[in-house]
Amino acid sequence: MYKNILVPIDLTQAEKGTAMLAVAAKLADQGAKITAITVVEDLPGYVRAELPTGLVEKNLKAAQEEMAKLVKDSGVAASVQVSDGNPSREILDHASKIGADLIIVASHRPGMQDYFLGSTAARVVRHAACSVLVTR
Ligand code: ADP
Repeated sequence: MYKNILVPIDLTQAEKGTAMLAVAAKLADQGAKITAITVVEDLPGYVRAELPTGLVEKNLKAAQEEMAKLVKDSGVAASVQVSDGNPSREILDHASKIGADLIIVASHRPGMQDYFLGSTAARVVRHAACSVLVTR
C-alpha cells in the first residue's frame, strides 16, 4: 500500500519500535523503502557546554548501535537514521526529505493511557504532509 514508510522510534520504548516495524512491513508494497528513525534530543547550549567533550557524539553512536540491533532483531529490512535535535521537527523534516508516504508513530509511552497522544506524536499527526498511522 505504501512505498516509503518512516517509523520514528523512541529508544526508551524499544518494544513498541519492534511492533511498529512489523506493521510497516505489512503495509509496505513490494520493493518499498522502510526507514527507522530515532532522534536524540538536543540539549540547550549552556548544558552542552558543561558536558565532557565527546559525550554528545558518544550518545549518537550508542543510539545508532541500539537502533541497528533493534532493526536487525525485528527481521524487517529497514534502514536506520539517527538525528539530533527536537524529535517532532526532525521526524517531520526527514519525512519531507525522503518523500515518505506514511509515518507510523506509537500514541504515547506505555503506562500513560490517560493521554490520547503524546506530545511528539501529536505534533507529527498535526503537521505531517503525508498519512500518519498511530499505533496503540
Ligand atoms: P510520550 O510523551 O508519552 O513519550 P511521545 O509523543 O513522546 O509520547 O511518543 C510517542 C511516539 O512518538 C513514540 O513511540 C515514537 O513513535 C515517537 N517519538 C517520540 N520521541 C521520539 C524520538 N526521540 N525519536 C523518534 N521517535 C520519537
